[in-house]
Amino acid sequence: MGGGGHAAAFAPPARSSSNVTDLVGLTRDQLAARLAELGLEGFRTGQVWQWLYHRGATSFDAMTNLAKPVRRMLADCFQIGRLTVSREQISADGTRKWLLRTDDGQEIETVFIPDEDRGTLCISSQVGCTLTCRFCHTGTQKLVRNLSAAEIVGQVLLARDRLGEWPASTQNRRITNIVLMGMGEPLYNYDNVALALRIVLDAEGIAVSRRRITLSTSGVVPMMAQCGEELGVNLAVSLHAVTDDLRNQLIPLNRKYPLDALLTACRLYPGVNNARRITFEYVMLRDVNDSVADARALVTLLRGIPAKINLIPFNPWPGAPFERSTDRTIVKFADIVNAAGYASPVRTPRGEDIMAACGQLKSASLRVRHALKEATATTTADAA
Ligand code: SF4
Repeated sequence: MGGGGHAAAFAPPARSSSNVTDLVGLTRDQLAARLAELGLEGFRTGQVWQWLYHRGATSFDAMTNLAKPVRRMLADCFQIGRLTVSREQISADGTRKWLLRTDDGQEIETVFIPDEDRGTLCISSQVGCTLTCRFCHTGTQKLVRNLSAAEIVGQVLLARDRLGEWPASTQNRRITNIVLMGMGEPLYNYDNVALALRIVLDAEGIAVSRRRITLSTSGVVPMMAQCGEELGVNLAVSLHAVTDDLRNQLIPLNRKYPLDALLTACRLYPGVNNARRITFEYVMLRDVNDSVADARALVTLLRGIPAKINLIPFNPWPGAPFERSTDRTIVKFADIVNAAGYASPVRTPRGEDIMAACGQLKSASLRVRHALKEATATTTADAA
């Protein structure tokens, strides 16, 4: 979909010249160029980069290995942006959800899921979503806009702030894994996602390895190979159906990139092998896609692809047209898939009590035009 018109219409707000430049979200080269404009030598880039992404500095004053006059100059010319927390909720199972506000007042959700052996941060890539997957709450929220690289990496910075995880050591960290499974289709905002992930991957900063980053797509086939080549992160695919007829209904994008094209792109995904499998996500919808025949068709469909299958018990949301499969059905389904040699863990719903589970995210942000129309409609009605 990403033609010029569409990309421009849903682009994040430009870094307007009137506002001081936010250093968060710049590439190293862009940062070096901005510092050079102030006459600062190249090694300063490494210093500032470390303060931003290894130590989580939120003020230039904190950068104590820079001389005070340099700190003042930086503070006069730049800012260190942070998303604003509108609401923090902590689930009974330890899952945390943050409702975050951007500078232009849009809202997104970010979720931290702690487990014994890992801590996963689920981040968003769009406000609302380009797509309308029927089982997903975000899919009912029209796309407002793409997130900028600063807003995508900003979710990691904010989560570290909240979890007290600075400086970013590689030992005993709480955020061990990052998944792009929040609001939005990341491959429909590829440029900003790629820039943000390059910052996250940088070993002198946030330093999360590409083996611990998973990008989830609903099947934007033309972008998958590029993502694998350029970023080399793990891939997860929202599959959820084994026939085009059903997948067309559940994920309308399938009409554009049907199963054949999608699975071919998976077979060709750069770096995929038995040690680096693609994760296929399969939401368990009662009497929709959970039969024994579906399970058998699923293992046939994936034959030859190094794969693991995440079975996701459907997480209800207000007005959802589906029910979760019964536990008995899910176990029978998993047994068939396991027996065929695929690891198919059943994902334990996390954070359900705070609407933080898979497919439950949604914010109140609406596209401006729609909101304005509504506002004017009400005022005229009131005036009448
Ligand atoms: S599943 Fe993903 S791509 Fe589909 S509507 Fe939800 S957020 Fe968008």
